[in-house]
Amino acid sequence: MYKQKIEIVINSDVDKEKLYNDFIILMSSLCRTGQIMGGIESPYIAGDSIICYQTTLERDSLNAQNNDEYVNLRIENLEQGCNSKLEMKVVGQHIPFYRAVCNCQQPDSYLLFTTYMNESSPVDCGTCGHSVPIYKLKGLTDKDRTDIESWEGDYVSCDNLNMGCNVGEKWAIKQMSDSKSQLSEFGRKVCGRITEMTGIPVYYFLFNYRSISITKDKLRTCPSCNGGWLLEEKWLDFYDFKCDRCLLVSTLTSKS
Ligand SMILES: [Zn+2]
Ligand SMILES: [Zn+2]
Repeated sequence: MYKQKIEIVINSDVDKEKLYNDFIILMSSLCRTGQIMGGIESPYIAGDSIICYQTTLERDSLNAQNNDEYVNLRIENLEQGCNSKLEMKVVGQHIPFYRAVCNCQQPDSYLLFTTYMNESSPVDCGTCGHSVPIYKLKGLTDKDRTDIESWEGDYVSCDNLNMGCNVGEKWAIKQMSDSKSQLSEFGRKVCGRITEMTGIPVYYFLFNYRSISITKDKLRTCPSCNGGWLLEEKWLDFYDFKCDRCLLVSTLTSKS
């Protein structure tokens, strides 16, 4: 992951507050395309420039080829308003370096997966296990990207309730573990849509924090088709359960 400096020199008498808002709107559009990660850092004014630092998955995440029509439109508006060009520059590598980016030509599958502390993409590659930038999923519409972002936000909200252990913990755990919960149904719909557009199957992860023994947990069947789904060996060093029919994955309970 990389830190990038995004800057535009103000060569006009444009209203600074409007400029600030337009800048934030551009950052939100870049979040939706997966070109910047982990939320938006506040821009600031220094001298004649408006500047911000953002995190990206790849060195060239901000290249124009990864833009969608909204990013292009917003850059155009900003540049017209400021009468100058938007400049972007890699200023360093982000720590930790733990998440590599998928470079597979044709992955066998993808996974929709995140956690409260994920700073990377919510889509992982089922072949190499690495992160897949949203802008690399070709054919998605703005609505599809908004849905991915919205599912990600909802999942992280539930996981935060789960980690907070005070308010709504049980409810949140059910949302993340039950294949029929509102969160899972939304997530599986998002998976289905990515599959439809890319032709690549997308697995959905079900969280598992049951108060049962590992022996008993291993006897559980796929919650959707009731078929066997326990793997002999972990998939991608993480998943213990996988149903190829229902495109569901899970892990053994982390509670017992
Ligand atoms: Zn890959
Ligand atoms: Zn199944």
